[in-house]
Amino acid sequence: MVMADTKRDIRKLKADELRQFFVQHGEKPFRAQQVYEWLWNKAVKDFDQMTNLSVNLRELLKQHFSINPIKVDRMQRSADGTIKNAVVLYDGLVVESVLIPTEKRITACVSSQVGCSLACNFCATARLKRMRNLSVDEIYDQVVAVKEQAETFFGRPLTNIVFMGMGEPLLNYANVISAIEKITSPKGLNMASKRITVSTVGVTKMIKKMADDQVKFNLAVSLHAAIDETRSSIMPINETNPLSDLADALRYWYQKTGKKVTYEYVIWKGINDSEEHAKALLKFCRIIPSKVNLIEYNPIDDGRFQQASEASLQMYMHLLESHGITTRIRKSRGRDIDAACGQLANKA
Ligand code: SAH
Repeated sequence: MVMADTKRDIRKLKADELRQFFVQHGEKPFRAQQVYEWLWNKAVKDFDQMTNLSVNLRELLKQHFSINPIKVDRMQRSADGTIKNAVVLYDGLVVESVLIPTEKRITACVSSQVGCSLACNFCATARLKRMRNLSVDEIYDQVVAVKEQAETFFGRPLTNIVFMGMGEPLLNYANVISAIEKITSPKGLNMASKRITVSTVGVTKMIKKMADDQVKFNLAVSLHAAIDETRSSIMPINETNPLSDLADALRYWYQKTGKKVTYEYVIWKGINDSEEHAKALLKFCRIIPSKVNLIEYNPIDDGRFQQASEASLQMYMHLLESHGITTRIRKSRGRDIDAACGQLANKA
């Protein structure tokens, strides 16, 4: 167990609070700007790395504050190049983040909560109790860690970020939004919003909130079934956020942002592999401009769920594509190290 530091976490301070601190201690206000840059843009983990501050000033900061960076405790590499990080937080809790390399991209898949409260039947993370939300800096640090790994192990920059790790990003909305602000800011990592995707189980109220906030990143919805009865039987969220409400929220999203949505969809044998389900998906895809990612199922130890046949996959592909819906098959990555979609469960 790592002990939590009792000093104030300096990254919880806003830029003007930091400025006030320096002024109160008889220092020049511009010091705040320098420290802010060290903390976010350069993401240092120690006050001694702030080399443009005097030793005395560094001591002053050490007396009052701590920096609580995440620690990548264990790194596993898949045969396909995927890297999974076990990330230890300041209070000893653990989340996972993943680096996914392809020919053109390097994507960071990051967590937004410790555990998850949503109870989707097919997902391993759902078996972990939701312990708490991740803070802004804990989300940010995961991206920094993967960015460093991209440069070290692949000699390439990080190109994309997906909020598809543990947890439901829209149930930790404020922190996810602030982390994205820092990730996209020139004072932070200066990454483009259009390279960032937030994936939700379909929390309709929060999809509307995102639309009102005019966010610039991409939206993905884990749909998995476009028939209420089936969706409710595998994703309990559908009981309180049924498909008609989801459709309304998506219309609102499109009206406010003009951005399309990506549906994530796994096809399981005997659950949603019929033509009726494929047609329901096609109908749902017409609500607003959309595309579909058919995700390969990553088995977790629940016999109820089995990957559908190749024939069902092709049936879906053909139906959607022949009606103009862009559809991609997303092959599983990192499955040998339990790093694939739905497998993040803090297993050793
Ligand atoms: N809570 C958010 C973020 C998690 S994203 C959301 O639900 O969108 C993780 C993605 O992996 C989701 O689309 C989820 O439905 C999918 N998934 C979960 N378990 C899976 C499994 N066993 N195989 C393949 N995909 C899975």
